[in-house]
Amino acid sequence: MTSIKITEDTTEIAAFTDINRDVDRSFIAFAIKLVVVAALIISILGSVMFCTTHFAMAKTASTVPKQPNAQVQNTQKPTETPTEKQRIVLLDAGHGGFDPGTAGKWTGIYESEINLQITNELKAQLEAKGYVVLMTRTDANALGAGKNDDMMAREAMIQWSGADIFISIHQNAFENESTCGAEVYYNQVKPESVKLAECIERALQNIEGASPTRGVKQFGHQLTKFMRYSVLIECGFLTNQKEEAQLTNPEYQKKLAAAIVLGVDEFYDTAFQSE
Ligand SMILES: [Zn+2]
Repeated sequence: MTSIKITEDTTEIAAFTDINRDVDRSFIAFAIKLVVVAALIISILGSVMFCTTHFAMAKTASTVPKQPNAQVQNTQKPTETPTEKQRIVLLDAGHGGFDPGTAGKWTGIYESEINLQITNELKAQLEAKGYVVLMTRTDANALGAGKNDDMMAREAMIQWSGADIFISIHQNAFENESTCGAEVYYNQVKPESVKLAECIERALQNIEGASPTRGVKQFGHQLTKFMRYSVLIECGFLTNQKEEAQLTNPEYQKKLAAAIVLGVDEFYDTAFQSE
């Protein structure tokens, strides 16, 4: 009994299980159909939506102004107020270091030191008037170990400075003590420089208490052949007692620098043309 019961129970259980399996299978089949139908509907709707969206995008693209037009508007330059070009001057204090130049006959002060004093004063006065001022040297040292290296370094600065004009400052010497007066040199290979030389020489004529100037002269100096507007100023003679006293005097150095600035101003206002 117990065994039959067990069998019956087993059969019943088996039968119940079969019924469940049938229910499961039909449910699964239904579910699969549902999923397939749903997928089909989603797919159709998706296609419709894609087409709609794509069409809408295409329509949008055809109605929005093209980007290049917008870029043209954006790259239009704002109205610029014309401003005067920055004036850039390269100053050269002659000699330095191992090369002191000439010396004051009575004071013994070296030309290289006076050159730097006057160049520093000239720099300050030009900057006060808005000039951009560059210097080949700013201290007592030379720019190289020997004369050749020193000159090559100065040449390189002249060629790469981007300055408009070049002014080299020197002091003169001569065996005759009575010889005096400033001179302004330009190089014949840069004939446009004569205009700058003339402007500065005219201004030097008007320094209070100065000896008469000796004029504008040509000289093929090594450093005045690179820039379109290049001059070398011999401010006076350290072998003349009066001029040596003047050239070593800070007040006279200020007057000298002021005169050179006036000459540079006049040159820019009347004759300067960028290359
Ligand atoms: Zn010199």
